[in-house]
Amino acid sequence: MKPNQEPEFLKTKVEEIFLLQKQHSLKLRKSSAINRIALLNRILYWINKNQEDIRKAVHADYQKPYPEIDITEIFPVNIEINHAIKHLEHWMRPKKVGTPLIFLGTKAYIQYEPKGVSLIIAPWNYAFNLAVGPLVSAIAAGCTAILKPSEMTPHTSALLRRMVGEIFDTQTVAVIEGGVEISQMLLSLPFDHVFFTGSPSVGKIVMKAAAEHLTSVTLELGGKSPVLILEDADLKDTAEKIAATKFLNCGQTCIAPDYILIPVRLKDTFIDEMKKSLEKMYVSNKKGIESSKDYSRIVNENHFNRIQHIIADANLKGAKIEFGGNANREQNYIEPTILSNMKWDMKVMQEEIFGPILPVVTYENLGDAIQIVNQQPKPLAFYVFSKNDQKVNAIFNETSSGAAVANDCAVHFLHRELPFGGVNNSGLGKAHGHFGFLAFSNEKSVLKQRIGSAAVNPLFPPFTLAKKKLIKGILKWL
Ligand code: NAD
Repeated sequence: MKPNQEPEFLKTKVEEIFLLQKQHSLKLRKSSAINRIALLNRILYWINKNQEDIRKAVHADYQKPYPEIDITEIFPVNIEINHAIKHLEHWMRPKKVGTPLIFLGTKAYIQYEPKGVSLIIAPWNYAFNLAVGPLVSAIAAGCTAILKPSEMTPHTSALLRRMVGEIFDTQTVAVIEGGVEISQMLLSLPFDHVFFTGSPSVGKIVMKAAAEHLTSVTLELGGKSPVLILEDADLKDTAEKIAATKFLNCGQTCIAPDYILIPVRLKDTFIDEMKKSLEKMYVSNKKGIESSKDYSRIVNENHFNRIQHIIADANLKGAKIEFGGNANREQNYIEPTILSNMKWDMKVMQEEIFGPILPVVTYENLGDAIQIVNQQPKPLAFYVFSKNDQKVNAIFNETSSGAAVANDCAVHFLHRELPFGGVNNSGLGKAHGHFGFLAFSNEKSVLKQRIGSAAVNPLFPPFTLAKKKLIKGILKWL
């Protein structure tokens, strides 16, 4: 459904779609793996046939480079679909559980039933991937879905509407475009599951709205993901990996390294290596980064202003710009910017940056660095660079985060055997592969009794003296 229509008309339409899906969701409970795989194959076929349209739409939103679109928008969704197709039959199979002695005579198993009608609210930063990825999990689990893409990426949202219109009937999947008002209108409906990807502040609004109907939620949120560099790290390798993942999508990535923690004596060498990496990646023929086709833009003017404000605030409070700092308002271009001399009262150290600024914070001893990580809200991802595996393990045991990655950044997103998601402020529930399937499934306990009441009636009233003794005996034995 297109945006910008009369609110009353939209509300009625949205409610109609919801009721249509509600009815259809009862039929989908009986759908087989073959039915669902057929739908997943249709998505895969559509994506492969329309790759160029996907690239054009995403690029039109904020000049994201085509190879980056392939790597971060199309590739992960194709992995998700192929993984689900390969494993779905196994995931759907009822899981037998053991029989404790007191349940002798019964049979019990877990049945994975679709939750029903789901709502998927997507962000703008990977507007295709983060809309279609959860949709794949919803379809695999046998749910219907209403998909609300972000209003900030209108070209990709229109493409998603076209894609869903060509693959599905409205009773199975519908796209409803619009901003905050539409999102809140949708959230007022009694969905069976809401899968939200976005900021922690909006995540709270989503969770409150869902609580009205006791709707279950998956919240894929953001926050500040730190990188801790130890004394023994290979700084060239570390800098290259950080540069590639921090400035991907112009820093607008939920699991982008947010800030660096580094021993004082390594700071200058690390910053030099970062500069070399950035020049290697984005500067060719002595032309500056702005002319690079491999570096994207900030999504819109509001975010451009927000990031400029963060840099100005840091500058004012004594931060040193080690690299970058330039911008072009007309293009929403902000140069990769490395800062040092950080203080914790700077905005850049207090909010999720979500842009191409990399603050470098120094530490005197490892204990202080770990304390810094533990004093912040639990991050979506935590990265440690060191050759000492024992130290890495000890650090991972002392800290809490949605994911912990050693000697790399962000790559865990592509690993379909790992759950993807945050903890507390960075999220609730998990996505990807089997974990995505589970998010949209009700794990129903099924117990089948095979013996008559005669065998268990010693536990039924009236509680005679003999029965009381028996119950006490059982309690002692348990
Ligand atoms: P956002 O929270 O502003 O918006 C996300 C979605 O929520 C959009 O569709 C928007 O229309 C809707 N929305 C916005 N305000 C709303 C409100 N008041 N009520 C109801 N719905 C509302 O997030 P964003 O700016 O699109 O994305 C950036 C954030 O998302 C960052 O914090 C980033 O870390 C996070 N993120 C997380 C993941 C993840 O997988 N964990 C992935 C990408 C982005």
